[in-house]
Amino acid sequence: MTAHIAPDLLDFPPLEAGHFARIEDKVAALMRTRRTVVAMQGEALLPLEAAIRSAVRPGSTALNVVTGPYGETFGGWLRSCGADVVTVAAPFTGAVSAEQIADALRAHPAIDFVSLVHAEAATGNTNPVADIAAVVREHGALLMLDAVASVAAEPLLTDEWGVDLCVIGGQKAMAGPAGVSAVSVSERAWERIAANPQAPRRSYLSLLDWKERWVDAGRSALPHAPAQLEMLALEQAVDRIQEEGLDSVVARHRAASAATRAGVRLLGALAPYVVRDEDAAPAATTLRAPQDRDARDVVAAALAADASVPLQAAGGALATEMIRVNHYGLDADREVVLATLEALAAGLRALEVPVAEPDEALAAAGKAWDAVAAA
Ligand SMILES: *Cc1c(COP(=O)(O)O)cnc(C)c1O
Repeated sequence: MTAHIAPDLLDFPPLEAGHFARIEDKVAALMRTRRTVVAMQGEALLPLEAAIRSAVRPGSTALNVVTGPYGETFGGWLRSCGADVVTVAAPFTGAVSAEQIADALRAHPAIDFVSLVHAEAATGNTNPVADIAAVVREHGALLMLDAVASVAAEPLLTDEWGVDLCVIGGQKAMAGPAGVSAVSVSERAWERIAANPQAPRRSYLSLLDWKERWVDAGRSALPHAPAQLEMLALEQAVDRIQEEGLDSVVARHRAASAATRAGVRLLGALAPYVVRDEDAAPAATTLRAPQDRDARDVVAAALAADASVPLQAAGGALATEMIRVNHYGLDADREVVLATLEALAAGLRALEVPVAEPDEALAAAGKAWDAVAAA
């Protein structure tokens, strides 16, 4: 007979409906919404696709705001739903403005759906959602917001801003699981979805199935066995944020962004990819590689100096020119940011790229961190 070991991740009792509902309520509080929040049993691309396919139909005119790779993905879904798609794109070095959105809405009065990414971890920019949402509301269109990279990293006021479909995931600033996610749905959005004959039904993508079988049924019986481990991890992530205080978690992310940008400016050779501080996402800082240097080589050299720092070359077409500093979750930390700057300096020196001695850059970064923390 072999002895039974006691694995950490097995032998849980079933996740009960009441517990599942409590987790949804905790997530709703974090998102600052009193609307329905559906915890979806998959990574955040699931509720994003579900929201678009539920609310958009042939004859819809959608405004798709592209400030990074996720906006490009939304455009494909919108077209496949039969919508006419109007695109407003901002360079990845900045944000889109409320005026640009207002102009697009004036030029295309038929727009009835707007898709927007709040912050982009992949490109390091963040959009002024409060101002954009006000413009969208005045026009009367539904607003879908991808807040995966902004939740817990910067203020996210779902109801106050009037976001109709707000999607979050746990894997960025929440330092939680990637395998479950959530979407809040306003009354207006439910009405639009219910009136859409093309909205998915009896489908993994169906928000209406969740409404009918879970929400309207009083959240008393789960339609399927939930992704239990991921749901429990999501609850712990929200609980830990509430213990630290959401404001403090948000301040850590802002401080990490300010410190990284300040340090890099003094190091030289690298530059913040997002030009203006107010357009920089608190979750991640993107950097422009030195001229004639491949960003992937800089990342590899920095990781050779210190493999623990949260550095990554960008994906796709940006891979050669953009470096990502993923200072989100537990990496939104003073020591992590300073270690990252030191690793970048060491990596650049190893590649024989001239950089300043890191002392001044580290001091500037520390000062920038403290200025945010003291505010
Ligand atoms: C990270 C992120 C997601 C989730 O996508 P993954 O590729 O699975 O990480 C969605 N939207 C935005 C804006 C993100 O930053």
